[in-house]
Amino acid sequence: MIRERHLFGPGPSNPYPEATRALAEPLLGHLDPEFLRIMDETCEMLRTVWGTSNARTLPLSATGSAGMEAAFVNTVHPGDVVVVAVNGLFGQRMTDVAARCGAEVVAVEHDWGQPVDVDRVLTAHPAPAIVAAVHAETSTGVRSDIAALGAGLRSQGSDALLLVDAVTSIAGIELRADDWGVDIGYAGTQKCLGVAPGLAPFTIDDRAFERRVEKPRSWYLDLGMLGGYVGEAGVKGGQRTYHHTAPTAMVNSLHGGLTRILEEGLDAVWARHQAAGDALQAGLQEMGLELFAAEGSRLPELTTVKVPDGVDSAAVRAELLQRHGIEIGAGAGAYASSVWRIGLMGRNARPDAVLLVLAALEDVLR
Ligand code: PLP
Repeated sequence: MIRERHLFGPGPSNPYPEATRALAEPLLGHLDPEFLRIMDETCEMLRTVWGTSNARTLPLSATGSAGMEAAFVNTVHPGDVVVVAVNGLFGQRMTDVAARCGAEVVAVEHDWGQPVDVDRVLTAHPAPAIVAAVHAETSTGVRSDIAALGAGLRSQGSDALLLVDAVTSIAGIELRADDWGVDIGYAGTQKCLGVAPGLAPFTIDDRAFERRVEKPRSWYLDLGMLGGYVGEAGVKGGQRTYHHTAPTAMVNSLHGGLTRILEEGLDAVWARHQAAGDALQAGLQEMGLELFAAEGSRLPELTTVKVPDGVDSAAVRAELLQRHGIEIGAGAGAYASSVWRIGLMGRNARPDAVLLVLAALEDVLR
């Protein structure tokens, strides 16, 4: 038996009970009418959490990184200029994925811990095909202003597609894909959606879909073929075609998590994340700890803390896990041993979780 942990790292988070319970329900076949109903409802609920009416909104059967690959492999034509805002590990990963798809990548580098500088990104190239950015940089705990990026592209009269990573933002902080002009977005289930890792909620608008690569170099992630798999609700009258065996248990679990989130209300869920993050960040500072992410751009769902001088970062994390059953994350990249990442995502965005992690940290650091 695995002892239950408090998953207060950068993800996965502890799932919502509704998501966990759904995993124990009888397994359905992937073409069972009951499953097709669950898939349809899941896609509809995903539209709500994305803030989109895109018909092509679906859970891809793989983790967030596959969402990233699907985004680029379906939209980058060889030689396309892709401007990528890089302010952490996942922006960096985007440059790698885009280059592998044949893009001419223009990376707009930022200091880690800073939000994306919208003006620098908008002026990085006169006519990019795609502009890409991470909404919530999990490596640094920073939120970037996607609304401003989308508005900037529109006011420039640019016809670049806006491609956004919402892995750590979806169902945690405000996300309005349509209002902000997001053309392509991908996410993951294991963070604020409060579901186990394994699916990548994905959305693409008509404009981006029409400009897609006809035969992308990935068969599995070919959005042209995947449309039939989810019945392309509202696009082709719901005709289903077999593409791959849907992970029915995971989709049912996502359905459970989304139902829970929408019953609580998206605004209330965002407010709950904000309150938990504010309380955690205030408590850490009261303990004399310093936060890493730039003030004004701190994510509530993921807090980055500087490891105090002379403290063994890995030993503290190990003791938190052994003595208190609490997982927190190490820093990413160059900050692996100088930063901790504390996530209060999904079900964990609660006052009692704040108190628990603060008390445990105080105990271990004493
Ligand atoms: N993008 C961001 C912002 C992430 O935080 C992550 C994972 O932590 C990913 C992409 C990759 O997702 P996955 O690890 O589920 O493949």
